Amino acid sequence: MQPQNLRAMTRASLLPVVAITLAAGIFVADTIADLEIAVPAFYTVVVLLAVRFCKKRGVILVGVGCCALTLLSDLLTAASGSTGIGFINTTISLLAIATTTYLAVKIESEKAAAYEARSQLAHVGRVTTLGELTASIAHEVNQPLAAAVINGNACMRWLAAEPPNLDEARQAAVRLVKDANRASEIIAQVRALTKSSPPKKDWLQINDIILATVTLIESEILQNQVSLRTELADDVPLVQGDRVQLQQVILNLILNALEAMHRTSAGPRELIISSAKNDAKGVRIAVQDSGTGLAPDNLDRLFSAFYTTKPDGMGMGLAISRSIVEAHGGRIWATPNAPRGAVFQFILPMGMEP
Ligand code: ADP
Repeated sequence: MQPQNLRAMTRASLLPVVAITLAAGIFVADTIADLEIAVPAFYTVVVLLAVRFCKKRGVILVGVGCCALTLLSDLLTAASGSTGIGFINTTISLLAIATTTYLAVKIESEKAAAYEARSQLAHVGRVTTLGELTASIAHEVNQPLAAAVINGNACMRWLAAEPPNLDEARQAAVRLVKDANRASEIIAQVRALTKSSPPKKDWLQINDIILATVTLIESEILQNQVSLRTELADDVPLVQGDRVQLQQVILNLILNALEAMHRTSAGPRELIISSAKNDAKGVRIAVQDSGTGLAPDNLDRLFSAFYTTKPDGMGMGLAISRSIVEAHGGRIWATPNAPRGAVFQFILPMGMEP
């Protein structure tokens, strides 16, 4: 046990002894000495001490006990033929003890209510954290699973065709396996997160990750009639990090860009993904679109969990992206694009040479 815990326990167990000794001392002084001051008023100290080690009912009992001792003492003093000052002193003391007991009980009730409110708040906090985690898992796993279903259906269609198109069916099956692997990688990450194992620190070429991510959603880009341009600098330094997590960030940004362009019919749909050396200190990745754009008032809220403007949105994508980028020692932000659309950028620090 910690020494300070031991000291606190010793102090707590001594308090009742101190209170009883004090009450006995006051009683003796009040009974023996015929003083012109209200000695029993000091019983208020006993009541206040009782608050430290008793609950509400205990404090009331101590208060009643002190009043009884005051009256007993008054009776004993009167029997020995004392002055009339005793009656006034007793009345003042009884009033003081009763008021102190009432206030002490009130404080004790308020303390109990505050404690209850605090523990309820802590419970809500835990539930919210759990809810956030569940929502993020659902969001992340849902994407590859939905893609796996689409590819599985496509595979069956190619097989059912007359004659069956085995080549297309094989390609759809390959994509299905890729999607399923991605889902299981995400689950593995969640498990790693709960085990709080350190994130992977592989040496990564960010341009490779961008190109791999683009390949993953090439079909959506084509379906949305979006023209994609990649401007990848040759001289970007290697970064240290987790490939799957960084791929997740880029994927989130591209999917958001596609959705933003899908929701507007204004002008051509252009997506530019670029990488560049950032002041010799790291890498800057930017995803630029010509979609609905960003309201300047909402720039701060974009990365908060559950902030969404989409009817079926979860508002987790950017929150997760930010936590990944920050875990890599980087920073992510958004700015409006000219003449329309948005630019989401993040920087990653350059890795130390192995
Ligand atoms: P979700 O996509 O589920 O809404 P996100 O965290 O990915 O969650 O995005 C939060 C919100 O940020 C979106 O609902 C949208 O309003 C805004 N947003 C994100 N990316 C873009 C973008 N490229 N253009 C315009 N708004 C965007």
